[in-house]
Amino acid sequence: MAYKTTYPYTGEVLQQYDNATDKDLEQALTIGHKLYKTWRDEPVSDRAKQLQQIADLMKERKDDLAKAMTYDMGKLLTEAQGEVDLCVSIVEYYAKNGEKFMESVPVESPAGRAYYAKQATGVIVAVEPWNFPLYQVVRVFAPNFVVGNPMILKHASICPTSAQMFADLVIDAGAPKGALSNLFISYDLVAKAIHDPRVAGVCLTGSERGGASVAKEAGDALKKSTLELGGNDAFIVLDDADFDEVKKVSPGARLYNAGQVCTSSKRFIVMADKFDEFVDNLKEAFSSAKIGDPMDPETVVAPLSSKSAQEKLQKQVDSAIEGGATLVYGNEPIDSKGFFFQPTILTGIDKDNPVYNQEMFGPVAVVYKVNSEQEAIDLANDSSYGLGNTIFSSNREHAQQVAEKIETGMSFINSGWASLPELPFGGVKNSGYGRELSELGFDAFVNQHLVFEPTN
Ligand code: NAP
Repeated sequence: MAYKTTYPYTGEVLQQYDNATDKDLEQALTIGHKLYKTWRDEPVSDRAKQLQQIADLMKERKDDLAKAMTYDMGKLLTEAQGEVDLCVSIVEYYAKNGEKFMESVPVESPAGRAYYAKQATGVIVAVEPWNFPLYQVVRVFAPNFVVGNPMILKHASICPTSAQMFADLVIDAGAPKGALSNLFISYDLVAKAIHDPRVAGVCLTGSERGGASVAKEAGDALKKSTLELGGNDAFIVLDDADFDEVKKVSPGARLYNAGQVCTSSKRFIVMADKFDEFVDNLKEAFSSAKIGDPMDPETVVAPLSSKSAQEKLQKQVDSAIEGGATLVYGNEPIDSKGFFFQPTILTGIDKDNPVYNQEMFGPVAVVYKVNSEQEAIDLANDSSYGLGNTIFSSNREHAQQVAEKIETGMSFINSGWASLPELPFGGVKNSGYGRELSELGFDAFVNQHLVFEPTN
């Protein structure tokens, strides 16, 4: 594959990069492994301090980082700036809590004295997607940096400029070479890296297809893997929901990042008596959302990340309509060179519709009408995905009870999806396994090394 920056607003190729070679990979592995050995003997507090320096430099370079993301994959500049702020908070969270998270954990045993020490395991390969070019990297880089696991990054081929900019920033902030090696490598070289004995594990965020291939390599090589994959998240409006709040939150839960978020609300599930009002409100919001220049702060809907993303979504919407869905709004071509997709609303999707169990990665909302809470729960669970969901109810206990009945890794109550440094992120079913962020994410590639001395 070719690593290049094609600005999704104009279709213009702005930067191209040569692919990395076997030799580049070997060099990164050598430096990374050496650093892992050095870091094992150095105090965690040194790396925590360096991580804070990285956060400080990210604040200084916020605008450059944000612009690079907009040019790479087309997101709104305002959203890209927000992404940098979130990333700074994640880096600072691990800089602040990393030492505490690395402390040994005592284990109660009637048979003797026991504890487990937390230790680094080696070089980690990170395979990341383009939808949040900085955030996806930071969520795995920051914890592993404190742990002492150097990282080799294979970022999406459409966002090479932001990937390299962050890797350069890490070095400029004073981190040692090899802490984050960004390589423009092929899938074959990713597999080769996973099989290398100096690599301890691999984390991937992306599609089921990419996840399955990388996890297969990891399985063959007996390496640990974590997968953060797609979602088809339900947004459930219960009988006792504050409907004004629902109307305010629902359009943004679908349109943010042009709908290209794993945890975007993709299936809105609404009780029959509120269905028409819900659809009317969504239609009003979608039709008034300004589509256009991602650098313009007034724009609400940015282009999709690539021509192929636009074509794929178009095929899905066409097949949904051919399969019997009702087009309530949208699906009109946008007169622009940009890879835009008009916000679209579909209803009447039956179980046999081709998109019933597909993730649509763009601004397409599917709205379902249900007659009972149980029907809403069953519909939400009737998916091969299990990433997140949203529940609206003005009764917290009620919302929590319903949330726990949904087979997902995350539930958000009376809000759209959210991501914060201290909240574990991840899914079940085909949405993957393992968690990122929080202390759970910190432990993903830690050796929990038991030390036990029996009492006689
Ligand atoms: P993708 O095609 O799987 O790409 C993701 C990354 O994997 C890219 O770096 C890609 O490289 C690489 N890749 C794909 N196949 C590979 C292989 N066989 N060997 C090595 N590397 C491989 O995913 P996408 O469609 O671009 O990303 C969007 C998906 O990510 C959506 O399904 C979205 O829901 C999901 N996502 C999940 C989360 C989460 O936390 N659960 C967060 C964000 C996004 P190339 O770019 O070079 O192909």
